[in-house]
Amino acid sequence: PRGSWPFVSARAMASLPTWNGHYVNGQWTSCSSGRFCDVTDSNTGQVCARVASGGAEDVNAAVLAARSAFTAWAEKPLSERKAALQKVLERWQQKKGTAVEWLTKELGCNVKFATQVQVNMVDMHLGSSLKMVDLIKFEERMPMGSLVVKEPVGVVGCITPWNYPLNQIAAKVFPALLVGCTVVLKPSEVTPVCAYLLAEAIHEAEVPPGVFNMIMGDGPNCGEVLAAHEDVDLVSFTGSTRAGRRISEVAAKTLKVVRTELGGKSAALLLEDADFQALIPKFVKSLMANTGQSCNALSRLLVPRTRYEEAVGIAKKVAEATIVGESADSKASIGPVVSQAQWDRVQGYIQTGIKEGAKLVAGGPGRPDGLSNGFFVKPTVFADVDNKMTIAQEEIFGPVLSIIPYSSEEEAIRIANDTVYGLNNAVGSASPERAVQVARKLRSGMVMINDTSILPDAPFGGYKQSGNAREWGTMGIEEYLVTKTLAGKP
Ligand code: NAD
Repeated sequence: PRGSWPFVSARAMASLPTWNGHYVNGQWTSCSSGRFCDVTDSNTGQVCARVASGGAEDVNAAVLAARSAFTAWAEKPLSERKAALQKVLERWQQKKGTAVEWLTKELGCNVKFATQVQVNMVDMHLGSSLKMVDLIKFEERMPMGSLVVKEPVGVVGCITPWNYPLNQIAAKVFPALLVGCTVVLKPSEVTPVCAYLLAEAIHEAEVPPGVFNMIMGDGPNCGEVLAAHEDVDLVSFTGSTRAGRRISEVAAKTLKVVRTELGGKSAALLLEDADFQALIPKFVKSLMANTGQSCNALSRLLVPRTRYEEAVGIAKKVAEATIVGESADSKASIGPVVSQAQWDRVQGYIQTGIKEGAKLVAGGPGRPDGLSNGFFVKPTVFADVDNKMTIAQEEIFGPVLSIIPYSSEEEAIRIANDTVYGLNNAVGSASPERAVQVARKLRSGMVMINDTSILPDAPFGGYKQSGNAREWGTMGIEEYLVTKTLAGKP
């Protein structure tokens, strides 16, 4: 056995389940700092677990292990790396039940969403990467004879957020490992338990020591050390634009590559001919899913003045029909937001919307009736929003929609693009051709046409301050490759 699972039972740790270690060089190791991060149950606001809060010593050990394992892992045939990761996928199936249990606490999403969406994102990304890697051209002969080869970039530091914790870990770690990189993961300390479970699946699949490492801890003490580390070749970060900026700053010293997937303020732009009855519920429900905590959430709805009242009426109805409840409540559509900090932030934006003169048509400040303990928020809709208002410019990351009227298609495009972000948008029209014409004028990495989903074989990523990375699909694998030219007609 390679070390033991670092779980200490509730009884031994003053009634809190505790994960007190990291995963380094194929071993569960104890944390050097002696500090812990609290994990909060979003349904109750109570601390429900504790995890290690690592520091520089832990990160250094993990980077050293990843560096030592790199050459042997990179030199393995792709088929061997694929077989190892296929085994991880098998082991993961046995962890899903426990992962659902913890996601409903640490993230607060309901059982159905955790089961059907969150835990399956590992299968989606790992399954897709295992297929898509076969489409990568690792070698290419140039017309004048040079041979261009693609090689793994080296040691990759992955730093991930809490909103779709398994999704973001899987979208980074598995493509990197598949092409031969070794990894040090620093997951979100807000939703750490599901990361421990995925690490346990990797451990049980007997991926060679040092190939995958995980240090648990917070941003400043742990994430920054990893981003700044001189022996990390590439940092792949998903999270807030604020942290993305800081990580880019500390990483700049070594000029390593920094890939960023950051915040968004996406718009659903409905053209005059769109089927409002079909599309508005689809767009609003996709915003509300995960309690508004999605980077690509369609938090602005752009509607022609000619059909404005109709649109506001439909959106209001959908928000009012969105049932908020505890994770275990099978009738609830959504759960709480993740934390007190997130609750305060969303409430602050709702107050600001009212103060700046937007018209509140559904929801509003405070908790829904009967939910006085956890971090519950009322599904909220503002109409008559001006795009200059704070609620239309800043990422709220909660179930809050801003409806903005427009007079012409040109104005709608200008409003959609009037944001520092550029992750995602949607266009609704009875004519898909017309929708695509509008989509081409939107400055975002993704545009959904009469739809709300993005499939894992196409690139996911943003323009502008939404970051520079492309995950998913072949591009999400190529991010972890560097190019070498063998000249002289070899
Ligand atoms: P966050 O930026 O606070 O934290 C993300 C991760 O970075 C965590 O692991 C955290 O510990 C770490 N971190 C924080 N400060 C750091 C620092 N100074 N140095 C190094 N690491 C640091 O974000 P969050 O609150 O966990 O997630 C929500 C944000 O993530 C939203 O802005 C959302 O839009 C964004 N997000 C983007 C995408 C995307 O694909 N574009 C996907 C999901 C979430």
